[in-house]
Amino acid sequence: MSTNAELFARAQHSIPGGVNSPVRAFGSVGGTPPYLVSGKGALLTDVEGTEYVDLVGSWGPMILGHADETVVNAVTDAASHSLSFGAPHEGEIRLAELVIDRIPAVDKIRMVNSGTEATMSALRLARGFTGRDLIVKFAGCYHGHVDSLLAEAGSGVATFSLPGSAGVTDPTAAETLVLPYGDREAVHEAFTEHGERIAAVITEGAPCNMGVIDPGDFNAFLLEKAHAAGALLIVDEVLTGFRASATGAHGLDGVVPDLVTFGKVIGGGMPVGAFGGRADIMERLSPLGPVYQAGTLSGNPLATAAGIATLSQLDDALYAQLNESVTTLISAFDDALSAEGVPHTINRFGTLFSVFFTDREVRSYEEAKSQDTNAFARFFHSMLSQGIYLPPSAFEACFVSKAHTPDILDRIITALPAAAKAAAST
Ligand code: PMP
Repeated sequence: MSTNAELFARAQHSIPGGVNSPVRAFGSVGGTPPYLVSGKGALLTDVEGTEYVDLVGSWGPMILGHADETVVNAVTDAASHSLSFGAPHEGEIRLAELVIDRIPAVDKIRMVNSGTEATMSALRLARGFTGRDLIVKFAGCYHGHVDSLLAEAGSGVATFSLPGSAGVTDPTAAETLVLPYGDREAVHEAFTEHGERIAAVITEGAPCNMGVIDPGDFNAFLLEKAHAAGALLIVDEVLTGFRASATGAHGLDGVVPDLVTFGKVIGGGMPVGAFGGRADIMERLSPLGPVYQAGTLSGNPLATAAGIATLSQLDDALYAQLNESVTTLISAFDDALSAEGVPHTINRFGTLFSVFFTDREVRSYEEAKSQDTNAFARFFHSMLSQGIYLPPSAFEACFVSKAHTPDILDRIITALPAAAKAAAST
């Protein structure tokens, strides 16, 4: 049987950097990523037979834990009827209705295959609806690898400290105004100067791709500013949707945007995204309206089956459990790091949290970037060697699931003192 190192070396020959998404390569923490063979509940197993407690959850979707029986059965049943129709089926309507019933901003919704596709389509729709060209985004917010949204993005782009991406043309970049997160004066100035050209403001429900930042009432402010100028507010809930709370960021700040993007949890681990919102805007989409948007595999029966089986199991008891788990973990992280004198700040938004290795308050990308990423790397590797799989970057949220029961949390808590010691050492 191959080892992790052998597989990672072999992968370099056939896959750029050995990975299909950059953060997986452990670029910022160094070392070899484990090659996973199975997941059950909160646990992952790699090719070497090593078991890990998973705090990544496939970057958000696995809110019920890995290989949840109901979800697996739903997907297996759907597969037995066909892997893809490329034609209408009832599952698409059921998933759309589940989202519409829960999210007040969504009158109509369209399925796509990733979060990137969702934000890309939402931007086109916003431009088509308003007849304007400019988009406002915030530094450190990641909305997928859409050309115009890569400027000062978080996530992998933050990890690799890239200003954006090669291959994005200047005219495309010039259609995006990038502002510091939370900077109301900058938003005011952008609208004063370019108000008539701004089609939409896009923001994460809560920034989670520069680490977690609580938006407070920033989204409400953005809605007001956008509407005053005839622009739309797009809240990207690809990560926070059905995750931060039962109704995502909306459930915590009550803001009803014009368009919302989804991904991750609504696909239960299948490749899924969606965008939805006000009926009058959504009805500008083809075939009703002039804004073209399509997808061979969109609304795929396996994806909708996984989404329906996942959303149907998300009840108040689950979110209460997730919130309690996060409270327990935050206090354990805080205790362990404090005991070793490691500078740290822990931010939380609903059931999402992240640890920044700085004692400064973190409310923006600039502040997030001021953390000690080397201390994080030492902390990360100590946790990994003790069987705890954290996101391999200092700019990501941690994800817990229904399967993170008290005994699983204890395994994480037991590993913390040694990891804090490692972070403190130089
Ligand atoms: N928006 C946000 C807020 C995200 O966190 C992500 C992915 N982490 C995306 C969009 C892009 O989603 P995908 O990776 O499915 O394209």
